[in-house]
Amino acid sequence: MAATCSSLPKSPFFKLVAAGEGIWAAVATDFPAAVGNSAIVDLGGRWLVVDTFMSARAATDLHEVVRSLAGDEPLWVVNTHSHMDHVGGNEVFAAAATIAATGATRDRVLETAAGLPQRIAAAEAAAADATAGDDEESVRRRREAGARLDSLRRLRLVAPDATIGERLTLYGQRRRADLIALGTAHTNGDLAIHLPDDRTLLAGDVVVNHTLPVVQDGDAVQWLGVLARLRVLGAATVLPGHGEVGDAATIDDMDDCLGALLAAADALVRDPGAPAPLVPERFRAWRGAQRWPELVALVASRKAHTPFDAGVR
Ligand SMILES: [Zn+2]
Repeated sequence: MAATCSSLPKSPFFKLVAAGEGIWAAVATDFPAAVGNSAIVDLGGRWLVVDTFMSARAATDLHEVVRSLAGDEPLWVVNTHSHMDHVGGNEVFAAAATIAATGATRDRVLETAAGLPQRIAAAEAAAADATAGDDEESVRRRREAGARLDSLRRLRLVAPDATIGERLTLYGQRRRADLIALGTAHTNGDLAIHLPDDRTLLAGDVVVNHTLPVVQDGDAVQWLGVLARLRVLGAATVLPGHGEVGDAATIDDMDDCLGALLAAADALVRDPGAPAPLVPERFRAWRGAQRWPELVALVASRKAHTPFDAGVR
């Protein structure tokens, strides 16, 4: 089916970008309804949706696009990892699709679902605290606290109902998709989707484009090993978990960023009294660049507690 992006339903939450014949990236354009990217892949007689955004609102628009393309053909949803901006819209697809992920991701989504009442209570307290002040910063904080509370109250988290061990391959009439469990990188249960016939990789948040990585739920050192595995696949097109569609160099950028982060963390471990590290020039224009000192401190605190660290990059 040859559908151009312009003939597909539009959404305020994401833009569709053709990343090959029958492959669409749904690049998030809204915070907090979408946040992470999704994608749609026509396998031929069956369809694959990768990640479901943060909210049912954004996922409903994605579902509409999928239905306009796929009609009633069988549908698989894959969650690349457990973060809410990648699984938050699962409920929209639950009736029509098998939702697959690693076992670690399923466990984590179930944990998050169980902890939702506490998170809502904390968000209610934060929203109550943010009521004072008419200056720009107070108004912004109030708006953000309200939006966060609203999105948490609407959330009905649905966990994946199929788990993948090392690998699962889906065969369609048009192409195949290899779902590859990556172990620990951005989280403890990352999964990538490789489309070998198209030299295309859907990497979840293991590769983000011109965006600083989130490291608190994963491990920066193991992450570098995972990137080396991904590079060997030889993908020419890389759909990242955040940011625009990239290419092989996007994996190299991620590798360089994590390497710089680990080096800065090493320096901080050696000299804990040093001033807060500045974000290197190369990453200064990346999304989330202001988080650099916080990321370095986080990685350094883990390194300081890891004996026999051979300074692996
Ligand atoms: Zn994530």
